[in-house]
Formats: sequence, structure tokens, C-alpha cells
Amino acid sequence: MTTDPVLPRIRPEIAALPPYKQGRAARPDGFKLSSNESPFDPLPGVLDAVRGADALNRYPDATAARLRAALGERWGVDADDVIVGAGSVSLLAALIQASSAAGDEVVHAWRSFEAYPGLVRVAGATGVPVPNRPDGSHDLEAMAAAITERTRCILLCTPNNPTGPTLPREDVEAFIERVPDDVLILLDEAYAEFVVDDRAVNGLVERIHERHPQVVVLRTFSKAYGLAALRVGYAIGHRRIIDAARATQIPLSVTAQAEAAALASLAHDAEMAERVATTVSRRTRLVQGLREAGLAVPDSQANFVWIATEDPAVAAAFEEAGLIVRPFPDGVRISVGEEESIDRVLEVARSL
Ligand SMILES: *Cc1c(COP(=O)(O)O)cnc(C)c1O
Repeated sequence: MTTDPVLPRIRPEIAALPPYKQGRAARPDGFKLSSNESPFDPLPGVLDAVRGADALNRYPDATAARLRAALGERWGVDADDVIVGAGSVSLLAALIQASSAAGDEVVHAWRSFEAYPGLVRVAGATGVPVPNRPDGSHDLEAMAAAITERTRCILLCTPNNPTGPTLPREDVEAFIERVPDDVLILLDEAYAEFVVDDRAVNGLVERIHERHPQVVVLRTFSKAYGLAALRVGYAIGHRRIIDAARATQIPLSVTAQAEAAALASLAHDAEMAERVATTVSRRTRLVQGLREAGLAVPDSQANFVWIATEDPAVAAAFEEAGLIVRPFPDGVRISVGEEESIDRVLEVARSL
């Protein structure tokens, strides 16, 4: 018989957090469609850029100045209004921590990005999840009504992971008008490159952070740019908010290789546009096919689709066929992957 040793105390709200569960790898004849990864090889020049960043004994540039300069130029903002992080998740964490602590509330849609509740909890703050509308979109009316004197931060996810819909530009503008000016709004646009609906908000194109200094826009190189392994994302907003995130961010967490890869990727807009167009056409085929098979699929503007179902047999059928999907209690999320994966997904859907 073994007895448990006495361990150091862990904050109870942290001890209660579920551990992160990563999507499984697919079998050799299968497809991993559970993490919204890009199915494409790195853009031209990326591998060479990573190999070129070979001074492995040196710390990286702490502020990723070259990448911030390139992003500043791309979006017409000062490089100091840009922060680069080890994935945009790390920037969400830094910004939530900079704004919200014990006793403070963070309002977010639910179901939305799985990381949100944990990031809020780790900051010591209290999450206020607001149920989506039946079509999987944020209920901005209810989110505005959920704001209290304790609200310090609001998370908007567009397109929403895992359900797919975007937020219309006018709705976001009207929502912001209802939010007190001293509440931070994080506009999480991890999938912005895949959006074709021209009514959807695009924070950086519309320079929303300039009209509304309480808004910070977050983007990532993990999804459309296909650099998930390297961990690099960025946020753009008012310098004082961005400086606060620099203060809470873990120092030196963006590697020189990640910065080099992101810079090289930014030099290949034409190839990126082609890949995005391919993904969008696969997405269209997937949504249509799933709907024809009788499944409830909301509009998706991202590189995944959502099947609204509480029947565990749906996810099980995909897994059985070697397709690793992401099951949730109220639906199944399937990433838009390789061309062949679309056929395989639709085959299973028709058999349900
Ligand atoms: C994938 C994702 C991110 C960012 O992921 P990183 O790899 O950390 O850049 C952020 N928000 C949402 C909603 C995502 O789905």
C-alpha cells in the first residue's frame, strides 16, 4: 500500500482545471481533422529561413522587432502598436492577465474557443460564458446585457471556433458602443484569412482599434499560414494596452526560428491566397455535402465546419473510419484538410 505524499498547496481553482487534451494522431490511412491545422507544406522560403536562423546558442530578439516592423507596415500601424507572442493563445493570456484578476469578470461567448475558460481562471478572474444563438453565432445582445461593474474584458471570436460563424461589422460596432470605454475588448481573428463574407468584421482592415482604443485585434500564423509547430501570433492595439501585455508576457518566448518563418511567410501573399482559395472551396463542398446528408451545419467562414449534434454516434462513426475529429457534448468540429479527406468525411456522413 502506498500513501499519498503531502504536496504543496495548489490554488483550488487551478487544481480543478481539466488538463489539456490534444487531438490524437491519425492512423497511416487516416486524416487528422481535429486541430484546424493547415494541410499544406510551409510556404516557399520558410524552411530555408528557419535553417538560416541557426545561432541556437543566442537568445532571440526579445521584441521580435523585424517581424513587428513587417506587420506594422502590412497593417499601416506603428511597430510599437504590435506585440508578437508564442502563438496568439499566449497573447490572449497576457492581455487577460493585464486586465483581469480576482474579483473581475471576463465575458465571452460559449461555446467558443476551448482555451478561454482556462485562461480566465489562471488569471484569477471569473468567466461569464454567454450561450450562442441557435445558429452558433455570438449573442451580442445577451453579451452586452452580461456586462457588470466587475467586467474588465470581453472576448469576441470571429469566425467563432468551433461553430464557424463570423460577427457582422455593424453588429460589432453597435456592440462596442454599448461597452464602457474602460473595458478591454479582445477581437480574436485567428481564422480571418479564410473569411469570404464581406459583411464580416475585419478588425485590421477596418482599423477598428484606432476608432475604438479599447479594442485589441489578435491574429496567428498557426492556421492559414500553417506554422502551428513554431508558435507565433500577434496582436495590434493601443500602445498602452500592448505595453501592458509586454509586461505580463513571458519574456523571450518567441524563438528566432518562429520569427524568421513568419517573416518569410509574409513575403508570399500570392501563394497564401491560392491556398486559402483551395481551403474555401473545400469548405463549401464540405458544408453542402454534410447538409445534403441531413446534418445541421451552420455557416462557416473558417477552416473547419461544425455539425450540431448531441449524438455521440456521429463522432464515433468518423473515428471508426480513421478520421480524427474533435467531439464536443453538443457537436462535432471537423477541420478542412486534404482534398481526399473531404470525400472520406462526406462518405461517412452519408452513411449515418
Ligand atoms: C487556434 C486559435 C488561436 C491561436 O492559436 P495559436 O496557435 O496559439 O496562435 C486563437 N484563437 C482561436 C479561436 C483559435 O482557434
